[in-house]
Amino acid sequence: MRLWHGLLASLWTTLRQLRRRDTLQYPEQQPKLGERWRGRPILTRDPDGEERCVACELCSAVCPTHCIALEGADRPNGRRFAQSFRINFARCIYCGLCEEACPTVAIQLSPEFAFAKTERGDFVYHKEALLIDGTGKHPEYRYYDHAGVRTQALPEPRNCDPRSNLP
Ligand code: SF4
Ligand code: SF4
Repeated sequence: MRLWHGLLASLWTTLRQLRRRDTLQYPEQQPKLGERWRGRPILTRDPDGEERCVACELCSAVCPTHCIALEGADRPNGRRFAQSFRINFARCIYCGLCEEACPTVAIQLSPEFAFAKTERGDFVYHKEALLIDGTGKHPEYRYYDHAGVRTQALPEPRNCDPRSNLP
């Protein structure tokens, strides 16, 4: 009885799969990607069209495959920017750590996944190819609205000895 039950259950599973079509006729049919899909990293601009990257190099430091290289410079108004920015996508593993480390949300992982090349050197993208005209996932965010804003110190509670570690 158990054997028959197992056989019928597996047959039913097989029949159900026959009706499901998982194969897409790519590239005419594009796959539906998840909201948090991690594709090719891009550089974004703030809502004013200014480059968000301030060349802090955090993304480069955190990248586990060391595929980001950049050089920073100062504008006459004191604003820092990336003079050059390069990512070697032959080494990128789309982990998203650069996006998490970036304090200005400049670098973001886009949904793009289709960029096969025949030459290894073509995987090296420079700033012109990385920097987009839009704001990416954060349409309102402007780093300079937040940077350098002085935080208010909270008043010390009464009867508090700040030199003591005791509760
Ligand atoms: S996604 Fe990961 S591997 Fe790719 S550039 Fe960012 S940190 Fe490096
Ligand atoms: S992309 Fe972000 S983390 Fe990388 S250098 Fe620019 S501001 Fe810093």
